[in-house]
Amino acid sequence: MKDIIRETPNNFSLPRRITRLGELAYNLWWIWNPDAQRLFIQIDRPLWERVYHNPVAFLRKVERPQLNAVTNDRYFLDLYDRVMREFDAYMSEEKPWFKTHYPKHEKELIAYLSFEFGLHESLPVYAGGLGVLSGDHLKEASDMGLPLVGIGFYYTQGYFSQRITEDGWQETRNFLLNYADLPVVPLATPDGKPLTISVTLAGRKVSARILEVRVGRISLFLLDTDIDDNNPADRSLTARLYSSDPEVRISQEILLGIGGVRALRHLGIDPTIWHMNEGHSAFLVLQRMREYMSEGLDSEAAKQKVRESNVFTTHTPVPAGNDEFPLWLIDKYLPHVWEELKLSRDGFIDLARNQQDWGETFSMPVLALRFSARSNGVSELHGQVSRAMWNKLWPERKVNDVPITHITNGVHAPTWMARRMRLLFDRYLGQGWMETIDDLEMWSQIENVPDSELWAVKRHLKNKLVNYAMERARRQWVTGSAHPVQVVAGGVLLEPYSLTIGFARRFATYKRANLIMRDVDRLIRLVTNEQMPVQIIFAGKAHPADEPGKMVIQQVYRAVKDARSGGRLVFLEDYDMNMARLLVQGVDVWMNTPRRPNEASGTSGMKAAMNGALNFSVLDGWWREGFNGDNGWAVGEEREYHDQNAQDDADSRSLYDTLENEIVPLYYDKRSIDGMPHGWLNKMKESIRTLAPTFSTRRMLTEYLGQAYFSDKTEEE
Ligand SMILES: *Cc1c(COP(=O)(O)O)cnc(C)c1O
Repeated sequence: MKDIIRETPNNFSLPRRITRLGELAYNLWWIWNPDAQRLFIQIDRPLWERVYHNPVAFLRKVERPQLNAVTNDRYFLDLYDRVMREFDAYMSEEKPWFKTHYPKHEKELIAYLSFEFGLHESLPVYAGGLGVLSGDHLKEASDMGLPLVGIGFYYTQGYFSQRITEDGWQETRNFLLNYADLPVVPLATPDGKPLTISVTLAGRKVSARILEVRVGRISLFLLDTDIDDNNPADRSLTARLYSSDPEVRISQEILLGIGGVRALRHLGIDPTIWHMNEGHSAFLVLQRMREYMSEGLDSEAAKQKVRESNVFTTHTPVPAGNDEFPLWLIDKYLPHVWEELKLSRDGFIDLARNQQDWGETFSMPVLALRFSARSNGVSELHGQVSRAMWNKLWPERKVNDVPITHITNGVHAPTWMARRMRLLFDRYLGQGWMETIDDLEMWSQIENVPDSELWAVKRHLKNKLVNYAMERARRQWVTGSAHPVQVVAGGVLLEPYSLTIGFARRFATYKRANLIMRDVDRLIRLVTNEQMPVQIIFAGKAHPADEPGKMVIQQVYRAVKDARSGGRLVFLEDYDMNMARLLVQGVDVWMNTPRRPNEASGTSGMKAAMNGALNFSVLDGWWREGFNGDNGWAVGEEREYHDQNAQDDADSRSLYDTLENEIVPLYYDKRSIDGMPHGWLNKMKESIRTLAPTFSTRRMLTEYLGQAYFSDKTEEE
């Protein structure tokens, strides 16, 4: 990266003794290191909350007396010195995991392209699961010392924030991000100009600057078209995620695929592996072909070279969810490309042709599948579903020979596991347990954790969740923006001792948030049982253009507002990573009820499992692999239905039966004198023991390395 200036904005004026806090603020390493967070919390906790856990904004706003106070506090300085030592040791580690396991792969470099990256609530350039997975991928790559860079977008308006009206209708608002308050560094040329790349969009030249985010040892480069060079409409091309305007979509995807390759070239980065996380970045195939052809290869040879070094992960189990463009858009945006690739229009469309009922399209997953050496779905079942869905691309093959495998998703434990839970495990699994998190044997030591200590941690985390909900409701009440019934719906009547179930995810109809509403009277009897009360916390956004999804929110909200539920059904507005953390850490049961087989993987249940919540879910996506009969519960049966209504009926009956007959009684069965449900605690341990190792990003990335990135270059040591 020579000749490129990456100067961290000199934003802060800090006392010399603690000046390196500025460095911490600009490296997201602090996100998964609770001691680093505690530094900010100890300086000024209310401010930390006010800036929404954002160290850059925090250090810009913190008052001098607060800073001076901690520079005189020996305990603070000890913590500061220790955190900085750990940070330095991490950043300069000589032999990270990758170097010891892949010593001969020094020259490899993986480029990881994704439409969204969910790293933290303070950098809201993600919408949901796909982004969080990408963020976790980068964090784990950093921990393992992988040679990897990420490419994505800096969405200047982030994703929308959600409010629910009194009658249950989702309203959305967008806020402009202030990049001076964010841990992003604009890259510049030596003469101080922003470093930009450009692409041609329907005959116009559109430029984007490159911003860098440091994620531990990994660089993430974000593209942003909001610069003076562009006309006003183009400046807002990268303002929002998942626009429903197909012209904005194709423009963004050209920027990511073609512009993303150019950005790396500009930075002097020469990846040996290109990983497309979902089809949005598949236009990179075109740019890479162009590169090879400008070196003199013909188009067949160029295709071959591109294919050899591409990896593709698909996340979409339904044909309708796939990203594709009508041909008129291709004619409008890409004719110069097929000329350069020496292809006819037809030959070009053939790269990604897909037949839909309503006509032919240019399909991004088809482009990615045709031009990747390895393609995978994100769970075993999703692999099967994907092979069947794309069999048509390999019509001569049997479905099981379609070249799409699976690598089941995982989550980054240090990001998602509560600090208290980590401390507990430090004590009973040995200090270095996180380094061998994917080792099933290591987890057998969970038996050594005393029930009382595990229960105390769980109680603490549930309390934190309940307080969080109450504080938010109080704030809404005080600011006068809520009707009283919304304050109740927001959780002011939650209790810290009742069995608490979490249900949080995107509100798409197939996720069936309303499955548990199929018999509202039965639901109300369940939650208001005097001996054994149950509370259910719902959260999640619907895509602004998804009217059926918004109607599901409304249906749920109606039940939440029903006075008969006694305030034990709750809807928390504006689901994001902060709320996700509090929920997965705080609840007793994590419930997921998608219409099988529509859930490609799901990851929030994995986060919950690591924190001692028990999963209660349809045997779809990851849970079909995770469930062993003892570590949680299944909703419905593992079978296919041809009638959705029959499927929903059967699944909802199973849902109520299992709750009433198994889950609730087990939680309230406190036979021993100490008042703890030991049967429940055993299940918690069984769940942690079996799920934490397998559904970690450590296991996931080990599989990407062995089966996708370097599968043809196996290492013999
Ligand atoms: C983990 C996470 C998701 C993905 O959860 P699913 O189980 O796939 O629904 C979505 N949004 C946020 C904020 C998350 O943290």
